[in-house]
Amino acid sequence: MRLPRPSAPICLLDLAAEHAALQPALDAAVREVLAEAAFIQGPAVGQFAAELGAYLGKAHVVPCASGTDALTLALLSLNLPAGAEVIVPAFTYVATLEAAALLGLRPVLADVRPDTFNLDPAAVVAALTPRTGAIIAVHLFGQCADLEALGALAADHGVALIEDNAQAVGATFQFASGEVVHAGTVSAVGTTSFFPSKNLGALGDGGALLTRDPARAALLQQLANHGQSQKYHHQRIGLNSRLDTLQAALLRVKLRQLPANTAARQAVAARYDGALSGVPGLQIPARDARSSHVFHQYTVQVEGPGRRDALRNYLHQCGVPTAVYYPLPAHQQPAYAYLGYRAGQFPVAEQLCETVLSLPMHPLLTAEQVDYVGEAFNSYLISAERV
Ligand SMILES: *Cc1c(COP(=O)(O)O)cnc(C)c1O
Repeated sequence: MRLPRPSAPICLLDLAAEHAALQPALDAAVREVLAEAAFIQGPAVGQFAAELGAYLGKAHVVPCASGTDALTLALLSLNLPAGAEVIVPAFTYVATLEAAALLGLRPVLADVRPDTFNLDPAAVVAALTPRTGAIIAVHLFGQCADLEALGALAADHGVALIEDNAQAVGATFQFASGEVVHAGTVSAVGTTSFFPSKNLGALGDGGALLTRDPARAALLQQLANHGQSQKYHHQRIGLNSRLDTLQAALLRVKLRQLPANTAARQAVAARYDGALSGVPGLQIPARDARSSHVFHQYTVQVEGPGRRDALRNYLHQCGVPTAVYYPLPAHQQPAYAYLGYRAGQFPVAEQLCETVLSLPMHPLLTAEQVDYVGEAFNSYLISAERV
């Protein structure tokens, strides 16, 4: 606690500073939308979709109102029978289950891998039944799930794979064949979120669907706009889920910054690795050699009962904010008690909820700040734990 503080306070993320650097372009975008006054489905929506699609390697992008809506629309587009099972990771943000549950589908949990935090293909095999309609893989914290194994499983069993890519926009995955794909674009449908804190964040809510299949893209477009083929002609029961023109215009500015921001996040992560790799009882984020990692979060594991929370308190006193994503696994959330799971059924997810700790991560973190976080960890082990 006697550490000399870095010259600027450390934030978990610093959207105000990121936006300050883009202020003139953001101002111009807002002025243009105000002048055109086409607030719903204005030209910026299509322009942003085309630009994001090009960035993601010619994927079709269908914008919608949020990442959660994108999951709902992805599932709707599969036309699954009521009660069909949707396999989801036991360690994820709740939206992944929520979309399935709201549609009258049954979320079936599968445990994750202890190293990458991503869906364990072996657990998916065990969870598959004749009623399985879809598997949702989440690319958690910025690194791709095992698309090779999960894609093969989905194909072998005739079920759809959905990629929840809310946290890994811009990540890539290399298949054994050598083919390299962008996260979110390789399965039946990919979804993403433009929640402000995501790697590509709007200044409000937003989301999108990703697919390489033009027919699927057309269907998703229809579903996101009241199921209509043309105005007042409704082919399907859909949603009112559109990305505001204003958010699209702002996202066009933010998208131009995404590659540089991703590189900056990766540089921060590499420096964290160096600062933390010797710390006993601490695991730095594992990398899957087939995937790039865009570090939506830099999440370490702190082993030992109660140790994560003690360390967290200490770091807080040192001026290092941290977060726990996620403190409760899906099956222990009261809203999902009806699924009938018991404590102990998903031991990896349960363990991770006790050990994970996400450190400050944003493109403007300085080397001095990252080194300070490393020193704070080390000083905890020397002074507080006296090991
Ligand atoms: C943020 C997030 C969502 C939901 O996105 P919203 O835009 O907030 O609705 C879904 N899944 C995961 C994994 C997320 O991180």
